[in-house]
Amino acid sequence: MDAGLVTPCAGSAAARKFWSLTLRPLPKTVLPHPDELLSGWLARLAAANYCSFVDLLVHVGIDPRHTIMLDFALETEAAERIAAFARTDVDRVQSLLFPDLTQTEAALTAPVPLHTCPNCSRQGLALKHWRRAWAVDCQVCGALLTPILGKPGIGLLSDQLLRRARVGAALLGSAVTLNSVGQIRRAMRGVAFAMALKNARGTPAAALQSYNPEVRLFCLAAIAAVQKRPLLKAALFTTGIDDFARVALLRTYHKEARLLATVDRIACRIQRRVHTLRSRNSEQT
Ligand SMILES: [Zn+2]
Repeated sequence: MDAGLVTPCAGSAAARKFWSLTLRPLPKTVLPHPDELLSGWLARLAAANYCSFVDLLVHVGIDPRHTIMLDFALETEAAERIAAFARTDVDRVQSLLFPDLTQTEAALTAPVPLHTCPNCSRQGLALKHWRRAWAVDCQVCGALLTPILGKPGIGLLSDQLLRRARVGAALLGSAVTLNSVGQIRRAMRGVAFAMALKNARGTPAAALQSYNPEVRLFCLAAIAAVQKRPLLKAALFTTGIDDFARVALLRTYHKEARLLATVDRIACRIQRRVHTLRSRNSEQT
C-alpha cells in the first residue's frame, strides 16, 4: 500500500494542474541525513518552517493516516511534489525510503519507531538503522539505543549481556544482509532457545523487536551463544524448561526431525548423567 493522496484524483491532468498552482516551495529547506527516514526528514522540514507535520503532509497531498507506510512506499507523483516543495530532487526523496526488503529483512525491520538515540534524537533525527532488530548502538554517535516504549532501565543491564548482544547483533545483521538461509536459521534457533528461557511469547522476530530490552538483548546474545555446539545448547535448555518452552523448541525443529531426535538424545544423556551424579552424592551423604 502506498501513502495515499488526499485530493484531487491522483495521476489525473486535473491533479497535476492543481498541484502546480497550489504548491509553492517552502521558505526553509533542510538537508537530509544519508540514513534518515522520509517521515523523520519531513518532520524536521515542518519544524524548520513552523508548521505541523500533519499540515505539511496534507499540503503536499499525502493522507496523514498513511504515515506508517511513508517510509516503505511512496507514489512517484507524491515524491515529485515533495521534491518540488522542499527544493530538492526526486532521487533524494526516494533514497529516504527503505529499499526493497527481503522477506527476513522485512520481518526484522520495525514498521514503527522502535529505538531512539538519546543524542541524535535531540536534533530531530529518525534514522533507518534504528528500526533494525539487530541495532544495539547508534551508528552515528555510538550511544546505546533506548527503546521508545516499555521498560526503561537499559542502562542497568550488565556489560557482559551487552557485549554478547552486540556480537549476536553483528552476526544477525550479517546473516540478513547476505540473506544466508543457513545463518538466519541458526540465529533464529538461538532466539527460540532464549525465548524459551525467558518465557517470551510470540515469534522470534517479535522477540527481537521487544520493547523490553532484557528480552531483546538476551535473544541477541543467544544468537552468539548458539554459534558453537548449538545442539548441545538446545539439549541443555530442554532439560529445565516448561511445556510452553518445549513447544517453542519443537516448533523450531518441527521440519528437522533428525535434529530434534539428536537434541532429545543429548538431553536424555544429560539427564541420566545428572541422576547418576545425584544418586552418588546422596550415597556419600
Ligand atoms: Zn546517535
